[in-house]
Amino acid sequence: MAQPYDAIVVGGGILGLATARQLLADRPGLRLMLLEKESALARHQSAHNSGVIHSGVYYTPGSLRAKLCVEGKTALERYADQRGIERVERGKLIVALDETELGRLAELERRGRANGVVGLRVLDAEALRRIEPNVRGIRALHAPHTGVIDYGRVSEALAEDVRTAGGEIQLRREVTRIAQGGRSVEVATRDAIFEGRMVVSCAGLQSDRISGSETRIVPFRGDYYTLSPRAAELVNGLVYPVPDPAFPFLGVHLTRRVDGTVVAGPNAVLAFARERYRRAAISLRDTAATFGHPGFWRFAARHLRAGVDELWRDVSKRAFVRDVQRLVPAITTADVRFGPSGIRAQALGLDGRLLDDFVFAGGGRILHVVNAPSPAATSSLAIGAHIARLALEMLA
Ligand SMILES: Cc1cc2nc3c(=O)[nH]c(=O)nc-3n(C[C@H](O)[C@H](O)[C@H](O)COP(=O)(O)OP(=O)(O)OC[C@H]3O[C@@H](n4cnc5c(N)ncnc54)[C@H](O)[C@@H]3O)c2cc1C
Repeated sequence: MAQPYDAIVVGGGILGLATARQLLADRPGLRLMLLEKESALARHQSAHNSGVIHSGVYYTPGSLRAKLCVEGKTALERYADQRGIERVERGKLIVALDETELGRLAELERRGRANGVVGLRVLDAEALRRIEPNVRGIRALHAPHTGVIDYGRVSEALAEDVRTAGGEIQLRREVTRIAQGGRSVEVATRDAIFEGRMVVSCAGLQSDRISGSETRIVPFRGDYYTLSPRAAELVNGLVYPVPDPAFPFLGVHLTRRVDGTVVAGPNAVLAFARERYRRAAISLRDTAATFGHPGFWRFAARHLRAGVDELWRDVSKRAFVRDVQRLVPAITTADVRFGPSGIRAQALGLDGRLLDDFVFAGGGRILHVVNAPSPAATSSLAIGAHIARLALEMLA
């Protein structure tokens, strides 16, 4: 048995790294180790996302998502500026295409105001066209301070901070078991056992396997299409549809990334492998985990129609582009190239409902991130601070 650590963090995505950094900032000298199963950090969700710094419009007022998104945005922007990580405030429009969407747009405005989103305003069709001349719509909600950043770069900077503060990071260490002992916790990998006074797991798409929680991670693929340089000129910033309130996803949108390229997506299609990005990838273990959970069948019965529509749009480029054309009619199938893709870790309850809020749970000296969907990257520094506070209480 190796020397005991004060804290062990499982998972080297943006949340594990932000948590490790915060623990070391709150308790300088803490003996901390972070274990990551891949050969590099931030290989999964943290590097396969839209790169948006969300401003907090969508989330239920009073929820952790609302609170930590707004706090996290400010903290992330300050951090990026201190560390010289490029970010661009592009502004975001949520666009109502017709009268049937106005009620939902008004509800988003109410939420945004309740959440304290700075600069939020409603635009009529003419004002919308002044910002995005090629976007169709009758009214829009404008969040002018929504930005973009490369979360892979943010993760690298966080890792540097962890190492500088004396934290240890070990790669190619897949944690297979976490077990609470008397005054410490045993963390087993394939070839070693570590002991910590406290353990935090931020295992993303594998989090249910680590936590043993009764919720199940259902992986939802998000495919993007990249716009040609000609079509990219049709979009200045970030353009979103009014989302379907039945789903926690935002609908296919257009994002001008930090490098200037524009992507359309991501869609949301049930994936048959949690961490493999090829379109046809199938893992029997992951598929069995999804289909074997009673909540999945309740979820599927409720959302069969929407699921089939999403699947069709995933296999048919034409159908995908038709959806994009609802917002920007001038984009054609010749303008888009498939890729990149990401996979979301979305927790599903036994009752067949997708968990909406961030969920952190644990007992004794173990704390698990159970559900951390978007905007968890925006919120990462605030989530790190939140978890570090809970974790240090465990040590007290
Ligand atoms: C398509 C898509 C678009 C998104 N867009 C945005 C956006 O624009 N803005 C935003 O704020 N958020 C966005 N998100 C959400 C955001 O990317 C995630 O919420 C965030 O990255 C989660 O970070 P994480 O550290 O929990 O997970 P991950 O980045 O997945 O990290 C988990 C880590 O744990 C490791 N791990 C797993 N199991 C083990 C084990 N047994 N032992 C050791 N290590 C293990 C994994 O290898 C991985 O490195 C998006 C997500 C997706 C998928």
